[in-house]
Amino acid sequence: MTFAVTILGSGGALPLIKRNPSSQVLNIHEKLFLLDCAEGTQVQLRRNRIKFQRINHIYITHLHGDHYFGIMGLITTYHLLGRTNELHVFSPGPLEEIIQLHLSASNTELRYPLIFHTIDPEISKIIYEDEIVSVTTVPLAHNFPTCGFLFREKPARRNLRKEFLADREISNGDLQKIKGGADYKDASGEVHKNKDITLDPPKPRSYAYLTDTAYHEPVIPIIKGISLLYHEATFMEDKAKDAEEKFHSTALQAAKIAKKAKVKKLILGHYSARYRNLGSIHEEAKSLFPSTIMADDGKVIIVNHDE
Ligand SMILES: [Zn+2]
Ligand SMILES: [Zn+2]
Repeated sequence: MTFAVTILGSGGALPLIKRNPSSQVLNIHEKLFLLDCAEGTQVQLRRNRIKFQRINHIYITHLHGDHYFGIMGLITTYHLLGRTNELHVFSPGPLEEIIQLHLSASNTELRYPLIFHTIDPEISKIIYEDEIVSVTTVPLAHNFPTCGFLFREKPARRNLRKEFLADREISNGDLQKIKGGADYKDASGEVHKNKDITLDPPKPRSYAYLTDTAYHEPVIPIIKGISLLYHEATFMEDKAKDAEEKFHSTALQAAKIAKKAKVKKLILGHYSARYRNLGSIHEEAKSLFPSTIMADDGKVIIVNHDE
């Protein structure tokens, strides 16, 4: 089952030729979630051959333009393409009013239901859940109401041991119960403990998208032990003062959060336009947290079960 992140935009506030501002697509079991939607996102979706009509959920971290200026265009494109599916938009702040003003100014009545979910960026809670995933808000420390998002895959059902199945006929109803964790009583009345006849399913995977934020330790218990963490790294440590004043992080601070939260892997992004070469940012983070990779426009990061 797929669990992968495609980076559409890895840059900070200023769009560069090879570095768009923030946007990513998370694919969990072929369900697509769009995380932030900066300007340029539509073109990036096409360039990366994402079937973007299949996106039904958009999560916006905050209303600084480099995280949402592309959403109006995308909403309009869906309208022009004759979309009929619901589109759910989760965001702190008055995004609904902003979009309604655009729509009424152009006298547009959308052909599909656009549903807003205004979220409270001050508290961590589950804001969406279905049979494969839950989404939790992660309050961040920016100069503006901002929250990150944590995606957790739901545990898979248990797998039956092949040797147990070999010469038995088990009804489909019983099979489903066993996969759900129930013990099994066979025709002779013998009870087989679930743990003796099944194997543990693969460990659920998880991904947190944390941008924009100053160094903020309260996120650590929320993201403890996750498979993959995206953490902004707008600056390097020699600009720690700038980072603090602008409520952003350095690469070393991102690595510190990853290390303290014992995450399996870290991706950095939201680099300031001042850094044309990203090698030293990477080195800075790796000096503390070796399993660090760099976000890059078009990069796909696949999360495996053993990570
Ligand atoms: Zn930003
Ligand atoms: Zn911001």
